[in-house]
Amino acid sequence: MQYKKVDMSIITRLMQIVGEKNVLTKDEEKESYSHDETLNLRRYMPEIVLKPNNRNQVRDILILANKERIPITPRGGGTGLSGGAVPLYGGILLSLERMNKILELDKENMMAVLEPGVTNGELQREVEKYELFYPVNPASLDSCTIGGNVAESAGGANAVKYGITKNYVCGLEAVLPTGKTLRAGGKILKNATNSQFIDILLGSEGTLAVITEITMKLVPRPRVKVDLIVPFDDLGGLCGCALKIINNRLLPTTIELMDRLTIKTCGEFLQKELPFSDAKAHLWIGLDGNKKEEVESMYQSIGEICLDKGALDVFVAEDRPNRDKIWQARQSIHEALVHFNPKMVGNDIVVPRSKVLSLIKGIDSLSRKHSVSFAKFGHLGDGNIHVYILQKNINDTTWEKVKSEAVQELFELTISLGGLISGEHGIGLVKKKYLSLVMSETQIELMQGVKKVFDPHNILNPGKIFDS
Ligand SMILES: Cc1cc2nc3c(=O)[nH]c(=O)nc-3n(C[C@H](O)[C@H](O)[C@H](O)COP(=O)(O)OP(=O)(O)OC[C@H]3O[C@@H](n4cnc5c(N)ncnc54)[C@H](O)[C@@H]3O)c2cc1C
Repeated sequence: MQYKKVDMSIITRLMQIVGEKNVLTKDEEKESYSHDETLNLRRYMPEIVLKPNNRNQVRDILILANKERIPITPRGGGTGLSGGAVPLYGGILLSLERMNKILELDKENMMAVLEPGVTNGELQREVEKYELFYPVNPASLDSCTIGGNVAESAGGANAVKYGITKNYVCGLEAVLPTGKTLRAGGKILKNATNSQFIDILLGSEGTLAVITEITMKLVPRPRVKVDLIVPFDDLGGLCGCALKIINNRLLPTTIELMDRLTIKTCGEFLQKELPFSDAKAHLWIGLDGNKKEEVESMYQSIGEICLDKGALDVFVAEDRPNRDKIWQARQSIHEALVHFNPKMVGNDIVVPRSKVLSLIKGIDSLSRKHSVSFAKFGHLGDGNIHVYILQKNINDTTWEKVKSEAVQELFELTISLGGLISGEHGIGLVKKKYLSLVMSETQIELMQGVKKVFDPHNILNPGKIFDS
């Protein structure tokens, strides 16, 4: 792919668009934009970082980049785990961090109109003041942006009851590489007119357009929240328990898994012994509702199911400080695993909920076959398990071979169970070589065709999802 370099005359024109202080050209300033949170991915230095603060600036940058054939990579909080925001071909790194205003909180319609750089956490806190709730809560919520959430169609721990980002986007505004603005939807709950434009941009990983405004649906804030931590020694019982809870129409917000390796690593990282840390795994079950009695009756029924399925105990966290401790431990998992295993590889496969036990058994076989450890945690209630393969004592040369074989076999196992290679982190850069495992040639050709219509000169986040 031949792209033009960002020379002095282009820098001058870009400075005229966004203002000199919103242009970074020095390596030390650009370094933090050369990577996201993807494990073991080398750095890709952008030639220039731009920080626009409105749609017109985004439009003018895109028009210039399109005309000059300069690659341009949109970036929100840079918390992505598939290399989506990494500027593979250098060029312009378009950081949406300054477009971070909550433009409107419409209480009557229960809608928030947002610039893309608003962080998920800020949105959560702001709407709570009005007794409203934005339920999509990725563990990265304090750093990831709503624009990045839309571009990845992110999920979170509350997905069992409340769904994921795509269930909340009612309106979008985006700028195409040609500079044209695309608007669809609005503060409306139903749309059989132009929702296809929203659908196509959800999960498009910054490859089709730059999202500049999002209208999100909100829901009333539940008044009562309770979390349960349930240790198990029998994984069959644990998986059966999760299924039975849902099949008994007890709809928790959250059903998360933490296996023993994850629990131990978190405990060590946080320097505190977590209860029942020798158990084979823990379930974290979150519940909410509007009446205390209603939630109490739900957790009693769930507790009975858990004990019936072999739980070692059921810990109940009813007050905010105790619930916050659980959330803190959940949020620290990725960081804790990275801290002790800097060379591991992360995956976020998804299988039908009923196949999670077969998946775990298959992973245990892979672990024995390759003599590697797998940490398993995450969104069990959605069948979306994060599987991190740890290098431990394997030397670097052997690790490269073992890693690629183990990932390939993990994906084959997942697919054989009716699953897919990513549930929420996207394909980005690191999973594109596996795309043909889950997509036919026809599907990939159709996606390439769509890309060509949106981005005829392939300037927007080139080299992501597939090679164009
Ligand atoms: C500790 C940790 C925990 C995590 N937990 C979760 C989790 O629970 N659930 C989950 O789904 N993910 C999780 N993630 C992954 C990540 O946080 C999400 O993918 C998130 O949506 C990325 O948002 P971001 O703003 O950081 O986007 P970035 O990483 O900056 O970008 C991600 C992609 O979106 C594109 N993009 C960003 N902004 C725009 C825009 N305005 N217009 C067009 N394209 C854009 C980029 O080009 C890139 O392809 C976690 C990551 C970490 C590090």
